[in-house]
Amino acid sequence: MPKKQENTAASPKPGRMDAIPSQGLPRTMILERMTALQKEDVRWRENRAFSLVFHQSDEHTEFLKAAHNLFFEGNGLNPMAFASLRTFEHDVIRMTASMLHGGQEAVGTMTSGGTESILLAVRTYRDRARALFPKIKKPNIIVPASVHVAFDKAGKYFDVKIIHAPLLPDGRVNPGAVERLITPNTIALVGSAPNYPNGMIDPIPELASIALHHGLGLHVDACIGGFFLPWAEKIGYSIPPWDFRVPGVTSISADLHKYGYAAKGASTILYRNMDYLKYQFFVFVDWPGGVFASPSLPGTRPGGSISAAWAGLQAMGEDGYQHNAETVMKTAQRFKEGIAAIEGLRVLGNPPAGVFAYTTSDHRLNCYAIADYMTEKGWHIDRQQRPPSIHLMINPGHARIVEDYLQDLRKAVDHVRSHPDAVLSGSAPAYGLMANAPLRGLVSQNILEIMEHMYDAEGAMPELDSEGGGVPKIILRLMKLRLRLGNVFKRGA
Ligand SMILES: *Cc1c(COP(=O)(O)O)cnc(C)c1O
Repeated sequence: MPKKQENTAASPKPGRMDAIPSQGLPRTMILERMTALQKEDVRWRENRAFSLVFHQSDEHTEFLKAAHNLFFEGNGLNPMAFASLRTFEHDVIRMTASMLHGGQEAVGTMTSGGTESILLAVRTYRDRARALFPKIKKPNIIVPASVHVAFDKAGKYFDVKIIHAPLLPDGRVNPGAVERLITPNTIALVGSAPNYPNGMIDPIPELASIALHHGLGLHVDACIGGFFLPWAEKIGYSIPPWDFRVPGVTSISADLHKYGYAAKGASTILYRNMDYLKYQFFVFVDWPGGVFASPSLPGTRPGGSISAAWAGLQAMGEDGYQHNAETVMKTAQRFKEGIAAIEGLRVLGNPPAGVFAYTTSDHRLNCYAIADYMTEKGWHIDRQQRPPSIHLMINPGHARIVEDYLQDLRKAVDHVRSHPDAVLSGSAPAYGLMANAPLRGLVSQNILEIMEHMYDAEGAMPELDSEGGGVPKIILRLMKLRLRLGNVFKRGA
């Protein structure tokens, strides 16, 4: 019999465990290992990342942890057993509804995150249409091309066709195009406030009047903006109308775990009234385990994320959120002005809040090569496509690094200008490839394979930033050829 593999300190890959240790390890040792592994993570504490972590202040975080800990073992699954958590959820929804001007009619539930809020909204509109408009067999929802990918996920999960409407040159959805895409099978429209890729707020009043005219629901995805825009507006920034004050807006998703500064695992889905929310509920009376009722996707609902959200909203207060909004708006402005001042770069659209992206305005400057240079300098860069761009979401800590970032960015632009071959190394080829429509099937296949390797027993780490970024050699060669030909033509011109 082969000797059972030892998976203690002698394990070849530190931190990788292939089986539960036969004897429990000392807890301090486990914590030490975790801290060691954490050192390899993105350097968000140094304000080097512009996504993934929304950090208000260390003081607020410590408070959230305390509030989370108190209900660490609580379970929101059963509101009778945990009346405390039911109270917290009720209050969080009331506070959110009042912030979004929903009035007493507005209702909703907490969820585990923006994606769950969106999954639920799509399923709610689908099931409402099934009940009220049974002739619709193949429902569709019309969304801006810039909408969060969670809508495509929801469409796939719940068999609702997601139709993407084109954008105006400023990055907002084109409402005329949305109206032309409406079919007898359309059940809802969607707008974002703001959208993720370019930070623009869609023309919600226009979308709402189209929705009202055609008898459709209108969901506003305010996952990022929900807990930010109301405060920016309150302190005097001009924010176009987007919340329940706009007649025709029937639901809003707003994430607590982004600019709400709650612990992760907390978002909200709100509806104008119970005529929508009731289709979100799930009841099953035939289960041998008992009659089962559930307001949202999960069974077990972690108490900590509910309690921390309740506590966080109160600790921040209107003044805290407004102060935060002021810092974020001013910092975003410094970034946007600094970027616009660099020749060859431009900010996409005219984004009104702390979420925006920039691209190159000079065809000789490859955005992904700039991104690679910035990565090299220790920044965690979020690359986008259509157009190739770099994405930022601002938090108060970023006020401290604006100049460092801009300085590196200026160097990056100079470097890429003087090294046209930079597009062929690092991750630039992979991202360039993804922007290439005829090859998208191949890209998708490639990514699926990477995922299979990540989730097989070996558990390979993804390495998109490595040389060539996992792009098949033959494609790399074609890209090099194209680049060289491109240079020839340019020289000829
Ligand atoms: C973050 C985000 C989502 C998804 O939220 P998760 O909490 O990441 O699931 C949806 N829409 C927008 C606009 C977002 O920014």
